[in-house]
Amino acid sequence: MAKDIAYLKPVPGNEGDYRSLGPISVCPCGSDLWNVKCKFDDDGELGIYFLDMRCTQCDSLAVAPMPDWKTQ
Ligand SMILES: [Zn+2]
Repeated sequence: MAKDIAYLKPVPGNEGDYRSLGPISVCPCGSDLWNVKCKFDDDGELGIYFLDMRCTQCDSLAVAPMPDWKTQ
């Protein structure tokens, strides 16, 4: 059973700053779940999101992937 989002809290003390790696979808700690600030458009689709994000597991900072990030 999935955890309630209220209990998805990072383990303090292990956070890093991986923004220099560029866009990533998997954190160096192994987690692929992120806390991202976003805004939905009128159709309920993901509208905009901030590129800075934090890993839900270790609270590290990273850069969020963008639609064409693998072709650059
Ligand atoms: Zn992490």
